Amino acid sequence: MISGFHRLSIEARRRLLNRDDFGESDMISLGGEVCEETAQLDLMSENVVGALRLPMGILTGLVVNGVEHIVPMATEEPSVVAAVNRTARLMNAAGGIKTEVMEPVTTAQIMLVIDRKDAQPLCNCILADSGEWLDVANRCDDTLISLGGGAFDLDAAILPSDSEWAETFVVARIHVHTLDAMGANIVNTMAEAVMREMIKKYRADAAFASLEPGMAILTNASPGRMVSASVRMDFDCLATVCGMDGESFARRIARSSAFASRSAERAITHNKGILNGIIAAALAFGQDTRALGIAAMDYASRDGHKPLACWTIDNGALCGTLRLPIVAGFVGGSKSCPQYRAAYKLAGIDSYNGLCSVLAGVGLAQNLGALWALSTEGIQAGHMKLHRRKAEEDHSAQKPL
Ligand code: NAD
Repeated sequence: MISGFHRLSIEARRRLLNRDDFGESDMISLGGEVCEETAQLDLMSENVVGALRLPMGILTGLVVNGVEHIVPMATEEPSVVAAVNRTARLMNAAGGIKTEVMEPVTTAQIMLVIDRKDAQPLCNCILADSGEWLDVANRCDDTLISLGGGAFDLDAAILPSDSEWAETFVVARIHVHTLDAMGANIVNTMAEAVMREMIKKYRADAAFASLEPGMAILTNASPGRMVSASVRMDFDCLATVCGMDGESFARRIARSSAFASRSAERAITHNKGILNGIIAAALAFGQDTRALGIAAMDYASRDGHKPLACWTIDNGALCGTLRLPIVAGFVGGSKSCPQYRAAYKLAGIDSYNGLCSVLAGVGLAQNLGALWALSTEGIQAGHMKLHRRKAEEDHSAQKPL
């Protein structure tokens, strides 16, 4: 292991990685040339030596809540950007997508360890003192409070524990309105402060002598960040674009959607296709795509794996609805990085609601794109076109694998 790597400059780190079988050109292939942007990235992560390059494709226009957005999408997967562009044209012609975004709430868990016999009294004390704990949390972020957000509710419960253990877990949860932020750091800071103060206060009471801190961290389960997107496309409107009569097309889409409702195996792939779009766009906006992905998967799999989007026929129209938690932030995180600011500028997104609405809209359009291909020519036709092109280029350049 190389020690002291984090203390070096980017250039020195790169030089240190130089070996007989890994020269400067390999370094450039791995992380690109060093430039002003690399220095920015050094502030975002650790041991940085460069940047990962992904193809940045463009969804050239998606109408969401009456506004057309040009959406950058970063993905290594062929067909994703082509498919979403194809369906966006169809949806735009039908008047576009409408969304609803819940006022976002992030929840933290504070886990305390205590003798089994003292757990219920501790739980009762925490609940009785809940106002005090919300105050402690809210003293952690003056800006959030001044803007009208902050911790607004607390609950506490005892978790079942192994019968041979003398101790058990008491878990207090703090629910926080995070406004335009994703809120992970905000809520973690609050949770740690509350845990410290809880330990200080309750340990002073002889009845809670066995009390120990466990951990304090947000939960990535995010039922407090639900977003829905819907679209209604008349058969007449479909017929002009999809190359067959609108009703037949709509029936194929609705049938494929029903398959995902009846087969968990299909639902998982159906949902992966939705995340193809949402995560590609979220990456371009510098979002925490792991938090976004795990929250969506958690929601989809709560009662057996269910499809996040479904399509039905209603009175001469194909109707699609997507509903999932979208974990995203319009302020905080890496938003200040010029690359992400440029993405927001291009997309014309100027609010948290706008960001979540566009991400949900992309997810719904991506889902229709996948169902369109699967229900007609098959998914491989589009996929393989790009794969073939890449394979030909690889072959002509005689690149080693
Ligand atoms: P952050 O730490 O940048 O905090 C946001 C800041 O913006 C706060 O201090 C807040 O006061 C301020 N603010 C200004 N205007 C605001 C407004 N209108 N609405 C809300 N806040 C406003 O960001 P964050 O959202 O707390 O954390 C996001 C980061 O946390 C992500 O980059 C993520 O990768 C990381 N993270 C995630 C996890 C997880 O998911 N498990 C854990 C730790 C960290």
